[in-house]
Amino acid sequence: MSAAVIDVLLDRERRLEVAWEDGCSLDIELGDLREVCPCADCRGRRERGEPVTTADRLTALSAELHGNWGIAIQWSDGHETGIYGWEMLRTLAAGAS
Ligand SMILES: [Zn+2]
Repeated sequence: MSAAVIDVLLDRERRLEVAWEDGCSLDIELGDLREVCPCADCRGRRERGEPVTTADRLTALSAELHGNWGIAIQWSDGHETGIYGWEMLRTLAAGAS
């Protein structure tokens, strides 16, 4: 059983912060978050060595929490199919520290 998310803070212009109950936390810039979008389309682009987006400045238009699962973000470049699972974000948090 993994630790529960206790806090999510989205600065639509800048960054996403997530905190877990065991003290783990993630603070990631939106541009970096967009780069690791887990959807099949973006995965395919990364595998082909293509950029996942051509927008120079990304913002989040809106975000939707999917309960225990994760967070979906609607991006200013029109992309909205990726759901960032808490487990995946936690892996990023572990990698960043
Ligand atoms: Zn994507």
